Amino acid sequence: MWVLGLTGGIGSGKTTVSDLFAAHGITVVDADVIARHIMDPGSAALDAVKAHFGQAALQADGTLNRAWLRARVFSDPAEKQWLNQLTHPLIRQEILAQLHSAQSPYVILSAPLLVENKLTELCDRVLVVDVSEDTQRTRTLQRDKVTRHTTKDQVEQIMAAQATRQQRLDAADDVINNDGDIALLPAQVAALHARYLTLAHDQRR
Ligand code: ATP
Repeated sequence: MWVLGLTGGIGSGKTTVSDLFAAHGITVVDADVIARHIMDPGSAALDAVKAHFGQAALQADGTLNRAWLRARVFSDPAEKQWLNQLTHPLIRQEILAQLHSAQSPYVILSAPLLVENKLTELCDRVLVVDVSEDTQRTRTLQRDKVTRHTTKDQVEQIMAAQATRQQRLDAADDVINNDGDIALLPAQVAALHARYLTLAHDQRR
């Protein structure tokens, strides 16, 4: 299976771009969705978190208290490492399973931390959605201020924890600059899609 890695910083437009590829019939494997599901009720990962951190890590209904866990590991590098050692192999395993079972001519692996977590190893090519940091701030706040009550400080924290714009660009084979109008995206995606179809086809021959 020929794999395109898709990444970009918070609020850069990864989802907007991956939706456009999906409209061309391309399967999108989303590392964030997988990361959430490995902590579903009844999972071995959730049991391990409960055994390690205690009942405080769970909400009253038995599901993971994500806000608590995020805050707990944010200020404690050793706990963060413990959590990563638990979750990263499970996430990688599930990503591989989903990439292998995809039926489209090629498959997209979409991950905000593609570069940081070395998921680029699983990809034949990397597409970065690139915007200025100011655009990231404005669009993330605009999107999340009402539904998720995200604050300016939280956006800054997430940006600081992600790779820099330059680090992502260094890992890129292709770049979509998304500082401009959203209406400019479909034509760029269509052109890249045509190219990826050829590359994936050539690899299979
Ligand atoms: P995250 O990493 O936070 O999940 P993302 O990279 O998936 O973000 P999107 O959710 O696709 O980013 O885009 C962020 C917000 O910006 C969304 O509300 C989206 O509709 C909007 N957006 C995307 N591209 C543009 C554009 N070119 N012009 C204006 N708004 C845009």
